[in-house]
Amino acid sequence: MNAPHEPHSLGPTTVAAALRDAGLAPPDGRILLQHVLGVPHAQLGAHPQRVLTDCEWRAFARLVQRRRAGEPIAYLIGEREFYGRRFRVTDAVLIPRPETELLIDLALERYPESSTARILDLGTGSGNIAVTLALERPRTVVAAVDCSPAALALAGSNARELGALNVRLLEGDWYAPVAGMRFDLIVSNPPYVAAGDPHLGQGDVRFEPRAALNAGADGLDALRAIVAAAPRYLDAGGWLIVEHGYDQGAACARLLRAARLADVFLARDLAGSARVSGGRKDAAGA
Ligand code: GLN
Repeated sequence: MNAPHEPHSLGPTTVAAALRDAGLAPPDGRILLQHVLGVPHAQLGAHPQRVLTDCEWRAFARLVQRRRAGEPIAYLIGEREFYGRRFRVTDAVLIPRPETELLIDLALERYPESSTARILDLGTGSGNIAVTLALERPRTVVAAVDCSPAALALAGSNARELGALNVRLLEGDWYAPVAGMRFDLIVSNPPYVAAGDPHLGQGDVRFEPRAALNAGADGLDALRAIVAAAPRYLDAGGWLIVEHGYDQGAACARLLRAARLADVFLARDLAGSARVSGGRKDAAGA
């Protein structure tokens, strides 16, 4: 499938032929074609001889070209699943990652179904963390902060579409828009990749916003700012839970202790990598 020209001269293009000619690694071709045709997986599989209209074929060919150039599937189809729900994504935000579901589990373990906690999510991006916590704990109120207006607009549309009425969107730098407020839980998946990390030149991350990934020479700039100020924004007993890089567990533990947080923990993702750390403000805390 080199260029989307003259499909009829080649005879009708069926689903099966389009997928074969696309030559993408599975399941990419199928996901893009389902998106173009607006059909679920089972329907595509049940009708391999369905003939594509010119318009469908052209739209599919364009997406295939972009995928070949490396663009992430989530940006091409405009969505990604997170914690069992579909979130809209654009290239203004980081694509939600399965590792981040661990942060959700660790938060939910600490706050029961009936919780009325005031929650703060710093650097909300698509809103995947804020909206998930808001829906899983419907009596909480979640403040979702981001310095990017485009990210906040997207988080707002995800909150609306998924029915999370208990999310409040606030624009600004980390704690700036919540000055003077107190929370029972602070969560964040901040940028934590070191500038110059070779990983930034590979795969999907090449297309993601640098501001959502990079955090200074050691990748800890955002985590330092978030952890150091957390005690001022937490009520006694409140937890701070943050995601970080696989090699930042020890550094995070040091930051959490330096902020005089208690019950410091480190949790590993399904791949066994250090991924989420946290600590709690005890009654005697700063
Ligand atoms: N886990 C992401 C990656 O490795 C980074 C996410 C982040 O910086 N918050 O690409």
